[in-house]
Amino acid sequence: MVNYPNTLLLIDGKWRGGRSGRTIPVLNPATEETIGTVAHADQSDLDEALAAADKGFKTWRAMSALDRSKIMRKAAALMRERVDTIAALMTMEQGKILAEARIETLAAADVIEWFAEESRRAYGRLIPARGPGIYQLAVKEPVGPVAAFTPWNFPINQVCRKLSAALGAGCSIIVKAPEETPASPAELIRTFVDAGVPDGVVNLVFGVPAEISEYLIPHPVIRKISFTGSTVIGKQLAALAGQHMKRATMELGGHAPAIVFNDADVANAAKIISGAKYRNAGQVCIAPTRLLVQDKVYKEFVDKFAESAKALKIGNGLDASSTMGSLANPRRITAIESFVQDAVAKGGKLEAGGHRVGNKGYFFEATVISDTPKDSRAMNEEPFGPLALISRFSTFDEVAEEANRLPFGLAAYAFTSSTKTATAIGAAVESGMIGINNVGLGMPENPFGGVKDSGYGSEGGIEAMEAYLNTKFISQTGM
Ligand code: NAD
Repeated sequence: MVNYPNTLLLIDGKWRGGRSGRTIPVLNPATEETIGTVAHADQSDLDEALAAADKGFKTWRAMSALDRSKIMRKAAALMRERVDTIAALMTMEQGKILAEARIETLAAADVIEWFAEESRRAYGRLIPARGPGIYQLAVKEPVGPVAAFTPWNFPINQVCRKLSAALGAGCSIIVKAPEETPASPAELIRTFVDAGVPDGVVNLVFGVPAEISEYLIPHPVIRKISFTGSTVIGKQLAALAGQHMKRATMELGGHAPAIVFNDADVANAAKIISGAKYRNAGQVCIAPTRLLVQDKVYKEFVDKFAESAKALKIGNGLDASSTMGSLANPRRITAIESFVQDAVAKGGKLEAGGHRVGNKGYFFEATVISDTPKDSRAMNEEPFGPLALISRFSTFDEVAEEANRLPFGLAAYAFTSSTKTATAIGAAVESGMIGINNVGLGMPENPFGGVKDSGYGSEGGIEAMEAYLNTKFISQTGM
């Protein structure tokens, strides 16, 4: 049995409470019990974190890439060693099943390692000059101290991508992690501290999100911001960053179409899409949401998909027999209930689920609606929960138009056995990522990010490192 801790701030290498002594309670969403607290940072704590990040940046950037990567690799090894404890903490505070919490923790180790390796390859280039004796260099330099804001749906993954890319590039960082799920990201950060990252390089704060972002983003010490969360908040923070000329990466909401063509392996598509849909109880920015199915296979797909939703065993994530855990907070229950009521009232057919489970813990059934009306709210707003919306299409042009109808453009999926259709749909869909006959997005080496209202910048691949680097041009001749 793992004891849930009270989570502290990390400022200049020291774990401590906020100067005000204030704390925020943390609930277990599966039981609604208070399981701990998290320290609350006020402005004086933020000032100390800023001073620490400023100092930490000078130390960290002066270290060789090799030495930095050694520390990062050690942190990755500690994540793997501590996976059982860290995963249990994540399940207790977030509600996802333990198997998924383990995958997230181990995936974080892979992310850290990938950026540790990449940090040694932050190459510039030598540009041929127009005259003799002139050296023209394009060199990469770390952008500076970073402020990162992350949400509760993947408490470790969302921090880890920003933290690893920033550290790999030679930046220091202040992480504002989620107050509702603070312990597991704090344990991620502890692995870096235990691995020997110098004081001030990594700082962790919690508090009132808007107060912290409004203070950190304009602050002259901060040179780059990264945010994962809703489009509404992302636009506010991007505007603030723009006003203060800060570089920004925005990983925002999505509303992924999953297109199933007549020539797809329908049983396999239903199985794969269902797995991706109900993972983390649907609280995933790249979750397939609008399931667009061509007429000939429509009925077969709806039946198979509803079957897979009904087969899920919903329960406490710590219980090994559960295959879907609770939602992370009561806001999601209210939201999903109202999305379902609205879609059904407008003519959608409830094929599975549709209701809250029990009255203790934020459990909601795996829900499937077919013939979903286009004007239902869920077909237009990000549901962010265990809700699959199926609708029918006839032609390629029709489905391409529907896929691109919304302002979101994060992930998309398509299932077909035709290479011609696969190529055409890959080109037609406006999204940052598309999985064709698979849902394999999110490996550390691959770009990860959106277009349109889903944000900008990448949180994976070499593009993610680039986001934390400046390019400096040096033209040099002898005297
Ligand atoms: P929310 O929009 O208020 O918060 C989303 C996240 O942003 C939270 O982690 C929150 O702490 C943070 N946040 C909010 N205001 C902030 C501010 N001014 N400065 C800095 N950080 C701020 O509401 P919510 O109920 O937590 O989530 C609502 C919606 O957000 C979801 O329905 C979903 O659409 C979206 N969301 C997306 C992701 C993602 O992975 N892209 C993750 C979580 C939530």
